[in-house]
Amino acid sequence: MQEEQAHESNIKLTGITAVTGLVMGIARLYTRGNININPEPVEESRLPEEKKKFEQARMTVGMTMERLSDFADSRNDSDTRDIMNAHYEILNDPELEAMVLRLIDEKSYRAEKAIYDAFQHYIDLIKSNEKSFLVSRLADLRDVRDRMILNVQQLAVIASFGKDAVMVAEDVSPIEVITFARNGVKGIICTEGGLTSHASIIANAMGIPMIIGAKSALRTVQDGDTIILDGFGQSVIVRPDDETSSSFTRVIKWQKEEEKFLRKVIDKPSETLCGTRIHLQANIDFEDEVLNIEKYRAEGIGLLRTDTLLMNSGSLAMDQNRQEEFCQTAYAGSGSAPVTVRLLDVGGDKLLNIKAKEANPFLGWRGVRILLDRRELLQSQLEAICRVAGRYPGRTRILVPMISNLDEFLEVKSELAGIQSLLEKRGVPIDRKIKLGIMVEVPSVAIQVRMYAAHTDFFSIGTNDLTQYTLAVDRGNNLIASLYQPLHPAVLALISMTVHAGSESGVPVAVCGELASDPFAALVLAGLGVRELSMTPRLIPKVKQAVRLHDLDEMKALSKAQMDSSTRADREAIHKEWQDKYELKLKEERSRAITL
Ligand code: PEP
Ligand code: MG
Repeated sequence: MQEEQAHESNIKLTGITAVTGLVMGIARLYTRGNININPEPVEESRLPEEKKKFEQARMTVGMTMERLSDFADSRNDSDTRDIMNAHYEILNDPELEAMVLRLIDEKSYRAEKAIYDAFQHYIDLIKSNEKSFLVSRLADLRDVRDRMILNVQQLAVIASFGKDAVMVAEDVSPIEVITFARNGVKGIICTEGGLTSHASIIANAMGIPMIIGAKSALRTVQDGDTIILDGFGQSVIVRPDDETSSSFTRVIKWQKEEEKFLRKVIDKPSETLCGTRIHLQANIDFEDEVLNIEKYRAEGIGLLRTDTLLMNSGSLAMDQNRQEEFCQTAYAGSGSAPVTVRLLDVGGDKLLNIKAKEANPFLGWRGVRILLDRRELLQSQLEAICRVAGRYPGRTRILVPMISNLDEFLEVKSELAGIQSLLEKRGVPIDRKIKLGIMVEVPSVAIQVRMYAAHTDFFSIGTNDLTQYTLAVDRGNNLIASLYQPLHPAVLALISMTVHAGSESGVPVAVCGELASDPFAALVLAGLGVRELSMTPRLIPKVKQAVRLHDLDEMKALSKAQMDSSTRADREAIHKEWQDKYELKLKEERSRAITL
């Protein structure tokens, strides 16, 4: 039966679209954690490469262990520290190293096989002597062995992706998404995953269509299968037959035509039918994306996530020069427009390889909480930003993530003043007009927003976190993805309170969460009075097109309907009604463009 299914064609799997798009490619099963040892020897000419792989894996795994041990130490977690130190010792055992290298040299083994056999030799020795006090270290030995082999294999797997690859995995990390993107992967399908998990955000930024929660994908899809990822239909077609393939090929072609049409909007102003300006800015996560600011005519950067600077790191140490370089690139790439640099927001599901022992990381050591506990990190980041800001006066806005108490913000403010005067004393040019703002992403801030307005220069609403904290729905958990509703009236009420407090006190309010990049949501937000939306640059034209085809009254009516809705079905009906009308508007617009 299973055998039959394995070859059945046109199998449709449903999932949840995390990044829209439609692609057809070759499925590549990405099973992190599966250790398959290839016993085949390699040619002699490849032996130096295998040795290099081993040394590289030893170094990477060693660095992670050192960092984990330092981190555990800093948190008084002596258990983890001791385990990491024991692992580190095993990893650096000179006899073990010599044996691995010998096996590669003498038996022409691949690195993974040599590592496996060398470790096995020691494991067998210990096992044969049951009284050995080392018996308790067997688990440690296996753990170090597996980490090394995984590291070696991951390098090989990543290097072997073809350009047509559609990755099928249980879940992916932000770092893996970046690696996929750099290897030209076309799409990502996960059996797990969350809608606004950071892996999804990065896939969106990189323009890689992604489906999450496709439960049976790893059981149904076979490596090498042709596969269609249909982000519009929230589905995956496995082994499509000729007819299905050619109809999807037609749709993909049509989609490309649509994109061409959309490009026409790029140079047009972002204003409503009635002439109100809605500023569309860029969310930037990597240097690679900076070119998109000009390409999609973003009006500056509304969110420069600096978290990616710690991407491959297992520690909180950040190179100040590297931070300056990153900021410098961002300023240089955004003309004379404002740049909003967000202070480091690691923790939660973010990129840091450190796994702190926290039962609820999203409610834990994250964002400004880490910065205030690690002052040297905060100071180094503020110094890097201030140095660059001095070279581009009048353009800098600094955004503080995860504020949940006014004290946190006031402390950052005083650190900023301290750094500015220190730099001034040293004769470094500074910008006295730097604006310091608060991310509104924890409900307590929105509820007390008037109080905060007296202290901040601007607000930026992070709807990704605001939604998860308001509705108590983990943004990375697809089991409850249907409860993750950023347009829920409770979330909109908090947004509306922030907008009102902002306009009463003359404090600008932007939205920089993923919500801003959805055309319907962008209209709802504009209807609530938001005038600055920041998003992945490649999505700007779609939002601009929607803004240009509606007037403010229509937008206000949409937000009112949304705010008054009671159930999810009500909200879906509002969306559907809007979508039908919008499609008509688009059709008219298109035929007008063709006849002109
Ligand atoms: C948000 O929470 O909406 C946000 C923009 O920040 P991040 O997604 O980086 O947590
Ligand atoms: Mg956030």
